[in-house]
Amino acid sequence: MKGFGVIKKGTVGWLEKPDPICGPSDAIARPIALAPCTSDVHSAYEMEGPHLINRILGHESIGELIEVGSEVRDFQIGDRVVIPCTTPSWSYPSIQDGMHQHEAGLVSGINFSSYEDGTLCDRIKIRSADMNLAMLPANLNPETAVMITDMMTTGFHGAELAEVKFGDSVCVMGIGPVGLMAVAGSALSGAGQLLAVGTRPDCVTLAKEYGATDIISYKEGSIYDQVMDATDGNGVDAVIVAGGDLETFYTAFGICKNGGHVANINVFTEITSFNIPIEHSGGGWMGHKTFRGGLCPGGRRRMERLISIVQAGRVDPGRMITHRFHGMDSIPEAFQLMVEKPRDLIKPVVILD
Ligand code: NAD
Ligand code: ZN
Repeated sequence: MKGFGVIKKGTVGWLEKPDPICGPSDAIARPIALAPCTSDVHSAYEMEGPHLINRILGHESIGELIEVGSEVRDFQIGDRVVIPCTTPSWSYPSIQDGMHQHEAGLVSGINFSSYEDGTLCDRIKIRSADMNLAMLPANLNPETAVMITDMMTTGFHGAELAEVKFGDSVCVMGIGPVGLMAVAGSALSGAGQLLAVGTRPDCVTLAKEYGATDIISYKEGSIYDQVMDATDGNGVDAVIVAGGDLETFYTAFGICKNGGHVANINVFTEITSFNIPIEHSGGGWMGHKTFRGGLCPGGRRRMERLISIVQAGRVDPGRMITHRFHGMDSIPEAFQLMVEKPRDLIKPVVILD
């Protein structure tokens, strides 16, 4: 098979590999729609390790099954499927602790483009097909559906980690595609005032469409001051970090109310610790603030639930697609866009007609 990936740290290109072997509970798909993720850029240029040499990248995909293992119950060759980015084997005891993302160790639930080959290829192997695949509804556009596999589940997980409740005030820091989906997820979870921190015009427009009530721009001055002004000095019940740096965390804990939650869904590759300010926490870090970071949930039921939200017309993640490409040969160009992040980019897709 042929795939696009990291040859060694800092060098990407096409890789030729033996065709994947379909185990009894696996399935193999040809791609219908693919999207590169910011995390693929982290994997190619910032992270390293033996698992990231000659590794096909990609974990956002919609496919058509071309092979199905002998023990697969619910899927057949020819089915069009939504393939979550997080596809555990579902066979470790930690599943019973609710930790499918880390079933066999930290982030082991996401094998695509990390511990095994990813989906930017012509033959995608999915483990535990019955537990991981969801049927693509006939009336759901594959390019919209591919936004569910990672961006929507991750952004919505931000709202879950921050425990957004009816009437909560929420601030989403960073409104790339992950942050935009955190805005949409917070709105659906019942946020009242919903602040989004970002500047790119297309992202700002979409953040408002997804439910942001206030836009905060670093260009207008300190984010901390602006959020405190916009909330009458109260701060917010929930902060979701979906972009930024160390300073972002300093601000996030500062604007979080006592008793509130800070959730991180950004992947940090270049810093080794966070700066948590005590000065904003009622003294001695006694402010009952919580901090959680997490990898997006995957698996079949998660996909089916998110698909039902899209089908009910409550959110359209396809609105984030700004660049469309056709054919395998365009994968490098789509990937390069994610590296360069031009101002008009939110999310590219590659459609395999
Ligand atoms: P992106 O680069 O498109 O968006 C990040 C946004 O943050 C940008 O708009 C950027 O301008 C903004 N930003 C940068 N510095 C900021 C600051 N100081 N304050 C506020 N905003 C700031 O990236 P994306 O595709 O939306 O992905 C965001 C992150 O989510 C990436 O690190 C990605 O690897 C990660 N991710 C995590 C998971 C998960 O499971 N937790 C899944 C997918 C992606
Ligand atoms: Zn991703």
